[in-house]
Amino acid sequence: MAAEIIDGKAFAAKVRGQVAEHVARLKADHDLVPGLAVVLVGEDPASQVYVRSKGKQTLEVGMKSVEHKLAVDTSEADLLALIDQLNRDDSIHGILVQLPLPKHLDEDLVINAIAPAKDVDGFHISNVGLLGTGQKSMVPCTPLGCLMMLRDYHGSISGMDAVVIGRSNIVGKPMAQLLLGDSCTVTIAHSRTKDLPEVVRRADIVVAAVGRPEMVPGDWIKPGATVIDVGINRIDAPEKGAGKTRLVGDVHYESAAARAGAITPVPGGVGPMTIACLLANTVTACCRANGIAEPEGLTA
Ligand code: NAD
Repeated sequence: MAAEIIDGKAFAAKVRGQVAEHVARLKADHDLVPGLAVVLVGEDPASQVYVRSKGKQTLEVGMKSVEHKLAVDTSEADLLALIDQLNRDDSIHGILVQLPLPKHLDEDLVINAIAPAKDVDGFHISNVGLLGTGQKSMVPCTPLGCLMMLRDYHGSISGMDAVVIGRSNIVGKPMAQLLLGDSCTVTIAHSRTKDLPEVVRRADIVVAAVGRPEMVPGDWIKPGATVIDVGINRIDAPEKGAGKTRLVGDVHYESAAARAGAITPVPGGVGPMTIACLLANTVTACCRANGIAEPEGLTA
């Protein structure tokens, strides 16, 4: 039986709709407009696309969007001074520093300079610690999006065997914490894992976050499992014409979809959920900063 497709594009639109409703309520009841500041250092083309998209979607849900575009040779002191200014600005509830930063800037230092309550990416060491100890935190956007889709599809995932392939700080590790928080039995697999196929075959939930095109073939997937493919890989697509490319995930979609119970496509799966969750985190941060009950269903 073919897998059910988990439509991240449609789900992200629903989340953005919920965010827009909360934004309207914050305005009407409290005269508050959540504000998101995005800081981009340098001119990395992919980062420019992300930042543009974030700004556009922030405005579309009725929030305030501020973009700070800094020169590639900006000093650490100047970047930290801007973060300090944004930390103190009451009209800004979320601060995101677009990664990667140019090599001369210390990413850990910069991220940890963001006020944890405004760290809508959830990368500050305090938020990592809060998540790891099951306390209320800002949750990294991509894993939060994956969790929302899993909860939506399954209702409860308690007691399920989950494998996260990849142990990055941005996706793999926080994803594992969130699954643990929802009472899954969690395995984190990585480049040194012995017999990865066998580890994946045991899993009711597979989250692939590696960055290697189609590395998980369908015959690794337990029949009926739910597959969340975080990977975004651009590969050559000669079938579309000379020099053409296409996006694929870390999972071989066709063969996995033939065995899985449900699967996220690439594109149109996890990708659109990431910005939707960034908007959700900004509303959550605004509510927390003002002692207002935060929206249900938009955080972990
Ligand atoms: P990363 O490079 O930081 O981490 C990759 C992880 O994969 C590492 O922990 C490594 O141990 C593991 N790995 C490498 N080779 C492996 C192998 N052969 N077997 C098992 N594990 C292996 O990457 P990341 O930032 O976590 O991103 C992973 C993928 O997710 C990338 O394709 C990235 O583009 C994508 N991504 C998508 C979104 C989104 O919005 N959908 C967001 C972030 C990242």
